[in-house]
Amino acid sequence: MRIDFHTHVFPDRIAARAVEKLEAAGDIRALSDGTAAGLAASMAAAGIDISVTLPVATAGRQVISINDGALEQVRTFSGRGLLPFGAMHPEFGDYRAELKRLARGGVRGIKLHPDYQGVFFDDPRILRIVDAANEQGLVVVTHAGADIGFPPPAHCTPERVLALLRAVRPDKLVLAHMGGWQMWDEAGEALAGTGVYVDTAFVLAPHAHRDGRPVDMLSPERFTALVRAFGADRVLFGTDSPWSDQCGTVRRIEACGLTEAERRAVFQDNAARLLGL
Ligand SMILES: [Zn+2]
Repeated sequence: MRIDFHTHVFPDRIAARAVEKLEAAGDIRALSDGTAAGLAASMAAAGIDISVTLPVATAGRQVISINDGALEQVRTFSGRGLLPFGAMHPEFGDYRAELKRLARGGVRGIKLHPDYQGVFFDDPRILRIVDAANEQGLVVVTHAGADIGFPPPAHCTPERVLALLRAVRPDKLVLAHMGGWQMWDEAGEALAGTGVYVDTAFVLAPHAHRDGRPVDMLSPERFTALVRAFGADRVLFGTDSPWSDQCGTVRRIEACGLTEAERRAVFQDNAARLLGL
């Protein structure tokens, strides 16, 4: 079984516009159309059984409606297909009650994006959300490192993750993009061995901007070394679809020289454990 822990879908009526806007912000090209149907087709082609879809609330007022949708979708989840996470935002009022509502309704986790949410990862508002999510047994996935569509400063650096970990001890914290996009050396040094999880979304070369300029990514050797630094039991297969193609990411990871046991942990076992499947 393969579980993709990091994908994005947009509601059909806004998918084309949302994808176009994000393509322009990151100067990159999407590799599927950003709809649920597009992702399902991509999963079939790539041999992926489950895709976790991660929403980003860019304002507190979006949280309830995103989570209503996630709760609805999770009710019909049959063990295959799309598995939605919920949203949370630092400006949201009664985050405790909302996280409880998600957990009770079977949603396994939430996504935070400190850059898009205008907050540093060691801000007290993030600490209390991470702490409350942990109390509810929820996974917390956060964007980590630089963001291709966002100017510096990065809001979730390895240093700020360490600061958060000094204050709260989440059991299921997932740092996207191998712990910090384009901050890979710092992430490995600072965060390996701290018990955090990382995902493989949008980190493996080659990727190019729309004009063909290459995006600075990890070589297979650097990727494999980083997997082993964090430990294969802490690494989750993720693609960032539609920003990477799922087929290509599967192929690239399979060509990285990981052992069969390591690949099994990354593609399936770690995710199944975190998701309670
Ligand atoms: Zn993403």
